[in-house]
Amino acid sequence: MRYAIISDIHSNLEALETVLKLIEKEHIDKIFCLGDVVGYGPFPNECLNLVKQNCEVILTGNHDFACIEKSELLYFNQFAKEAIEWTVTQLSDETLREIANLPLEHKGDNYCLVHSNPYAPSSWDYILSIDDAIFNFSKFNEQLCFIGHSHQPIIYIENRDANYSFTTDRELEIKEGHRYIINVGSVGQPRDNNPKSAFGIFDTQTRSYQLKRISYDIHKTYDAMRSFGLPEFLAERIFVGR
Ligand code: ZN
Repeated sequence: MRYAIISDIHSNLEALETVLKLIEKEHIDKIFCLGDVVGYGPFPNECLNLVKQNCEVILTGNHDFACIEKSELLYFNQFAKEAIEWTVTQLSDETLREIANLPLEHKGDNYCLVHSNPYAPSSWDYILSIDDAIFNFSKFNEQLCFIGHSHQPIIYIENRDANYSFTTDRELEIKEGHRYIINVGSVGQPRDNNPKSAFGIFDTQTRSYQLKRISYDIHKTYDAMRSFGLPEFLAERIFVGR
């Protein structure tokens, strides 16, 4: 099986369409979405519809969740909060109910999927260091855990002697006895100083993982954000990927 794993689309339709086109060429069997379909960007409904049409699994992210749980906005910065408040005005009651029903995690035969962390997915705590990763490795049983949330692609590795390391390599051989926490990066708002959309491909046959990057028409998304009155700061950061 070949799985494509996408995350953090953030209502960036241009980026999502570009990524889905590439996925089509990659002979993918199933697409998993790790959440944050909305927030920040200009096209929440269009992105939600495309994700529903294409993805086998759709998890909830903190921005999706904030659309239905206002208290979550306390943890958001001013710009993110403004964008969520605008997003909610764009969504129908039915769509909000659908978002409320999205799961926090999904488990496959040897992998699990979460938006933020396997320890307590609804805490929205980040995995940003080896120490965070070590703690989280003890909180799931599968060989692989795919995450998003930080918008920064990285792979944490637990080898058979319980030694820990990380890599930002784009190609990974999945070795027996090793375990992995893999951040697939962000489709719609990358933050690793690279504005190209990111997503992952996990191939169970070749036992490999690959990080894909692809350029999309950032100007289109920028123009739409400005014309809908979304914060300038959010519109500008997609050009630099920060
Ligand atoms: Zn996000």
